[in-house]
Amino acid sequence: MKKLNRLLFLVSGYLALTGCTGHPDADYPIRPVPFTSVRLTDNFWAPRIMKNAIVTIPIAFSYCESSGRVKNFEIAGGLDTGVFKTIYPFDDSDVFKIIEGASYSLQTNPDPKLDAYLDTLIWKIGLAQEDDGYLYTNRTIAEMHGGKGLHEWASRNRWELDSILSHELYNLGHLYEAAAAHYQATGKRSLLDIAIKSADLVCRDFGTDKVKVYPGHQVIEMGLVKLYRVTGEKKYLDLAKFFLDIRGPKGEAYNQAHLKVIDQTEAVGHSVRATYMYSGMADIAAIEKNEPYLNAITKIWEDIVGGKIYITGGIGATGGNEGFAGSFVLPNMSAYCETCASIGDIFFNHRLFLLHGDGKYMDVLEKTLYNSMLSGVSMSADRFFYPNPLESDGRHERQAWFGCACCPSNIARFVPAIPGYIYGVKAKELYINLYISNNADLLIGKKKVKVSQKADFPWDGKVEIIIDPESAGRFALKLRIPGWARNEAIPGNLYKFSDTNTETCKIMVNGEQIVVKPGNGYTVIERKWKKGDKIRLDIPMPVRKVIADERIKDDVSKMAIQRGPLVYCAEWPDNNNGKVLNLIFEKESDFASVFVPDLLNGTQVISSSGRQTKKMLGGGIEILDKEDVTLIPYAFWNNRGPGQMMVWLPLSPESAKPLPAPTIAFRSKVEASKMTKDLSAVNDQCEPANSNDHSVLYYHWWPDKDRWEFVQYNFEKPEIISGTKVYWFDDGPDGGCRIPDEWEILYLAGNIWKPLKVRSAYTITKDGWDSVEFEPVKASAVKIRIKLNKEYSAGIYEWIVE
Ligand SMILES: [Zn+2]
Repeated sequence: MKKLNRLLFLVSGYLALTGCTGHPDADYPIRPVPFTSVRLTDNFWAPRIMKNAIVTIPIAFSYCESSGRVKNFEIAGGLDTGVFKTIYPFDDSDVFKIIEGASYSLQTNPDPKLDAYLDTLIWKIGLAQEDDGYLYTNRTIAEMHGGKGLHEWASRNRWELDSILSHELYNLGHLYEAAAAHYQATGKRSLLDIAIKSADLVCRDFGTDKVKVYPGHQVIEMGLVKLYRVTGEKKYLDLAKFFLDIRGPKGEAYNQAHLKVIDQTEAVGHSVRATYMYSGMADIAAIEKNEPYLNAITKIWEDIVGGKIYITGGIGATGGNEGFAGSFVLPNMSAYCETCASIGDIFFNHRLFLLHGDGKYMDVLEKTLYNSMLSGVSMSADRFFYPNPLESDGRHERQAWFGCACCPSNIARFVPAIPGYIYGVKAKELYINLYISNNADLLIGKKKVKVSQKADFPWDGKVEIIIDPESAGRFALKLRIPGWARNEAIPGNLYKFSDTNTETCKIMVNGEQIVVKPGNGYTVIERKWKKGDKIRLDIPMPVRKVIADERIKDDVSKMAIQRGPLVYCAEWPDNNNGKVLNLIFEKESDFASVFVPDLLNGTQVISSSGRQTKKMLGGGIEILDKEDVTLIPYAFWNNRGPGQMMVWLPLSPESAKPLPAPTIAFRSKVEASKMTKDLSAVNDQCEPANSNDHSVLYYHWWPDKDRWEFVQYNFEKPEIISGTKVYWFDDGPDGGCRIPDEWEILYLAGNIWKPLKVRSAYTITKDGWDSVEFEPVKASAVKIRIKLNKEYSAGIYEWIVE
């Protein structure tokens, strides 16, 4: 499969296209100012972008090498021999995404070694590409072995299973995005030519009377639009639209193929696929002035902010589909909020801003950026969250890498591009969206304008902006007045501040106060700007209490704390004995904010007071004396080890998780046929609302089935027991657990396990307790034995012994 003539072919084929690098005329009405024109000088994002360059990108490449992702290209390209080295057929995409991030990074942090490494990597990718442009290492390698080793998600024919799971087009979408980035960053055509050769094949193979398979995992739509912008080739744009138009109506909601895209009004299914698709639709809507696309994505956005977004900006509530649940289904502990979905939602909201110039889209973007996205990466930049929950009992922890590595590779490519979200330009209007210290070179109308910002965001709302046009001239400066400074916690009615803040933003131009009248989220200052004009912006940043729509079950009788764009949380290291989930707060409590320079690299913390709650043996809840409570920015949690954390602060004992009472079960040493972290669930005294309640911790044996399992309580000293209760986990019809076929209780007397003389039959109930009373016995341990169904596993929420 060696392709000796490849390099020659690459340089000869597409020279005609050079020079066509600008935006074709029809595009978004607002042009983003590329991050290459914006140099950050702040203490918040600039160090994070630097760490992304010196920590995240190198380790991401080293995992790509050590996991075999790079080796796959070497084998497919004939540089080595062997079989496909990794787990998933979409593993090629990680390499492309990290090349994209590295290309961005090179623009702000020149690094000849990295540049050379990319050259070699791209050379290997070129060798792995088949002569006609096809690039998918799994198939190419399998064909070297007579088809053996072809992933079960792919079929013998190219493209055939893409709408299900082959991810051939998904890989290519990321290739095209990487190619556009690499070309723009380095001016080298090496990866661009590979992408063009691939895209030309896709153009030849797909079409109304050719292959008519829609992409199972969207992203190629955005990638093709980028390729169109770089090359000016309209066929790539047409292909992007083709891939959108052939979706639905008879496919799965999971990958948004249940309806034609123009008929979709609700955000459903896998949230990364969804946001990538909505972003692709926004691109087409902008370039082709496509009203049906615009209508669909507008309704979908309203559906998200109306019922499917967390206060952290995270989206995609459930893990089963890695995606959206119904409106108002937003559990905290089991919140999925995939890091990639946060990034996808930033892409989507940015595009909507570029279409409409409405600040509400930047409000969502900013919320996601500072909270749900940022939580995806540790301060050390080498540990990553896949899901980003809003509450933890200690079971969540960032990982160094994942078998499915979409999230870290997405972080690697997203972080260097952050400066590109600060500004936007439309004719003679300059939008300032984010307040981050930077120096930028802009073009407004035909005039070169230098803009600099000095700010200490997100800790302080004072901003100084200096405008330096090459010569004096009139244009409109549109300063974003964030929703949170206008008494709006986040767009939509899902979350509200509990009170109204009457302090308003103040703006001075050259020392003169101007009237702030935000329309569409911006206050407009139109005047003749001259060199050195100075704007001072003072956005009040008091601590605000947020309450959720009462239809969000998990947030009832709770409040969240927000200051500026940051959402806060209570985390274990800062609070009494490492426990926070049992705390309750008063709605009227004061929350004071102070900067602590030596905590978490310097952070604004919020202090208040709360009370611990404890369950009592005879029933009832004990409420302890007030104690100090410290809150930190949500995005910074889990940088000091795993432990308890919560964003939504309970206002009553009923909405808190009081410490368990010292029952027999709680004082026992727990053992089970399968020892996992989740075993602590069985005696934590948290009762679920039903057998499929993901807000309460459960213990399970999945994927095991059709056998006997057990859980055992070993008592401190022999105890007299006379009854037991158990609550089963059952996530049917979608999940793999059901109530078991049989169960029984044994007790340990001396060294012998004996059956109990039960006074009623064993029942097996879904959504409720199964109780059994028996003749009292003195036991040193008690065991519950469970017979799993032939087809399904089982699990337990709680097991009580009396
Ligand atoms: Zn991901």
